[in-house]
Amino acid sequence: MPPVIAITPCQEIHDYEASIQRAGGIPRVLTFAADPPATVLAQVDGVLLTGGGDVWPALYGEAADPTFDPAEAGRDEYELELVRRATEADVPVLAICRGLQVLNVARGGTLVQDIPTQQPGALVHEIGTPRTSPAHEIWVAPGSRLALLLDTDARITVNSRHHQAVKDLGRGLVSTATAPDGVIEAVEDATRRFCLAVQWHPENFYRTGEFRTLFEGLIGACTPR
Ligand code: MN
Repeated sequence: MPPVIAITPCQEIHDYEASIQRAGGIPRVLTFAADPPATVLAQVDGVLLTGGGDVWPALYGEAADPTFDPAEAGRDEYELELVRRATEADVPVLAICRGLQVLNVARGGTLVQDIPTQQPGALVHEIGTPRTSPAHEIWVAPGSRLALLLDTDARITVNSRHHQAVKDLGRGLVSTATAPDGVIEAVEDATRRFCLAVQWHPENFYRTGEFRTLFEGLIGACTPR
């Protein structure tokens, strides 16, 4: 049976589901009320954390910037518990955009709350439409899991729809890609079976498959049933 991948609910779920399907997995979109994290992790093989609003800044010890754009009620607490439990159980995790930020905060890391105002001179990281618009290059760290999966240790161009980014890295996480302005675009924890997070949106390329290997990597790391 193909691996079942839990997907955290968000407003643009379609492309995440399609990406899991095309990589050979079975998507299962979670609901906060019906799927307590402890229960979910006994029922699925991997976890996909999706994009969305900002993590509540108090969760990493800061007051909210005026640009704060909250996620759905209850989502921070739910996803933080889910990713902590997945890490403890060594369940494979792929985290995208907000998901990367959730993973970082779950490990005690902090966030740049608004790139345009807090990092003047940074590149434009919010290009909304079309969703696959090339936004900026990233420099991939040689030898990283990301480099292995993308089959590159150099530069690639990605889309970008985020106004926040990693500030201080959380415990056990290393940066494995940066934009030319220094913004962290990928993190991973090499001590886990599979724990990779990217700040761009690979799911939007499901039709053409540019980043399908990221989803295949998640599914390939799941233990066969
Ligand atoms: Mn970006």
